[in-house]
Amino acid sequence: MDTAAYQRGIMDAVSNPLVEEVDIMSSAQIGKTEIILNIIGRHAHRDPCSIMWLLPSLMMSKQITKSRLEPMFEVTPVLNGILADKRVRDGGNSLDFKKLPGGNYLIMAGANSPASLSSWPIRILLGDEIDRWGKLIKNEGDILMLARKRTTSFASNKKIVLVSTPTEKGESRIYPAFTETNQQYFHVPCPHCGGMQVLKFGNLKFEYDREAIKGLTQGAEEAEEFEWKRKAIAEHIHAWFVCEHCGSVIEHEDKHDMVLSGEWRAKFPKIVKRQGFHIWQAYSPFVTWAETAAEFLYATGYPDRMRVFTNTVLGELFEEKGQRLDDAPLMERREQYPAKLPEKIEMVTVGVDVQGDRLECEIIGWAADGENWSLDYRILWGNTQLLETYEQLEYVWELEWERQDGALLTVDALGIDVGYNPSEKGNTEDVDSNVIYDWVESISKLHRVFAVKGSSTRVEGVVKWTRAGKRRLKLWRVDGEQIKDVVLKRLRIDPGLPGSAHFPLQYDKHYFMMLTAEEKKLKAGRRVWTKIRERNEAVDTRQYAYASLLILKPKWGHIKRRMVEREVKEEPSEDGGVTEKRQRLRVKKRLKMRRR
Ligand SMILES: [Zn+2]
Repeated sequence: MDTAAYQRGIMDAVSNPLVEEVDIMSSAQIGKTEIILNIIGRHAHRDPCSIMWLLPSLMMSKQITKSRLEPMFEVTPVLNGILADKRVRDGGNSLDFKKLPGGNYLIMAGANSPASLSSWPIRILLGDEIDRWGKLIKNEGDILMLARKRTTSFASNKKIVLVSTPTEKGESRIYPAFTETNQQYFHVPCPHCGGMQVLKFGNLKFEYDREAIKGLTQGAEEAEEFEWKRKAIAEHIHAWFVCEHCGSVIEHEDKHDMVLSGEWRAKFPKIVKRQGFHIWQAYSPFVTWAETAAEFLYATGYPDRMRVFTNTVLGELFEEKGQRLDDAPLMERREQYPAKLPEKIEMVTVGVDVQGDRLECEIIGWAADGENWSLDYRILWGNTQLLETYEQLEYVWELEWERQDGALLTVDALGIDVGYNPSEKGNTEDVDSNVIYDWVESISKLHRVFAVKGSSTRVEGVVKWTRAGKRRLKLWRVDGEQIKDVVLKRLRIDPGLPGSAHFPLQYDKHYFMMLTAEEKKLKAGRRVWTKIRERNEAVDTRQYAYASLLILKPKWGHIKRRMVEREVKEEPSEDGGVTEKRQRLRVKKRLKMRRR
């Protein structure tokens, strides 16, 4: 099966003289580039005119020219010989400009370079991946508007074709365009009852071998890593559709024939001038239903992955549900931790936020899949210009937690913020970061301690070190936006799922108010984390604890732990239960204050 079955209707719309605009909102992997190539090939052959193929960047444009466009002209018999000899300089065949018969041309352009839009009039505008054309500027300056203007001299026979996987509400260009069309969806017949229907994600059912999947998804933090695992994971999944008419099971092997006998049906058939098409991965000849289910499993529990899944697999707009995160439901989730912590906790890190008169310090236990347990939150009062204030933090290396398998968890790393800026917070006293560096230098001989500093600009790889002044010490710059995207969005995940957070009973309302003190707001066209309440230290401690985990890059599943020493003789109690002494070996929490 190729993409021809659903391409046909799209091609018909493009060649229909009554149609002025065709907007295709889709997932990835459905053969969008073939559609565009077909349009170009058809016109170059039968109806040469001025065409522009506008991609997100000039680089992508050049790549696709070399890898797809030029080969098409070479291997297609009716197109062969249409383009001029590339070896002839100024012969009208360069990477971004190709002469077509009758004084016409094809311009290959990048949306990142408005200059490449040139002043040439365009009859056919092919806007490719328009939601990746940099940020949307809603008024006049938007690149889509500029590109549309190039077609104005062909009022009667211009054609605008826009293709994209959507992004999110307020940022997407393809979504508003699609909503103004006749909105066609591809209907396929049920192999059992013949009932025509759109394949809806809600009707995709699957069952899988939980254990096998667990091994494969574990550690698949990076999207690329998952990409090559997808097929392997899919082997453990059986996925099928349920017919919305007769309820029968539709197996994947039926897909081919169903798509072949499918047809486009419009939601608003009276609209002719603007035709819209929506199609997603379930129809794709390149991806199986089981692979789609694998992608869903990979995204479940991770808001960021779910966003990607919604856009690139379902081809749908992502809408964040409930922008504001309330403190109350989070507080309701507090729980009494078991005496022995879950085995899946493999790492323990500490995040420390520095204020003028205190340190705020949170200890978090992490599992490989991002599920996390807040273990301790303390405020350590003291003048933060004095070394002894920082020495109070050394209590964290006295702490031990026993895990269900008898392993002892201790603190693996601590990240302390060296970016406290008193002038920003109306504090006239300066905190000399040298004091923090002194402490970090001395304590890091014994323990893993990182000097971290939040950065409002993008940090490649999220955490990256530079030198702290003239010292030998590493200063870790952390990308606050990206880290908050992970730790704060994870607060929305239901308890127990990968990435979800656990909180102990003793945390008070104040803690949860701090933790929910930031939300994403639009600032200069970019959505950034913004304080909605003054006190937000719990956001920062969590941020630095997570940054420390990223710096450590743990080898999940291979971390060796000391076991609880059973040096105490086990005195069998009368009922054979756990002895008191053994119980005393459990969670030890001692605050050791050292003062000089
Ligand atoms: Zn049926």
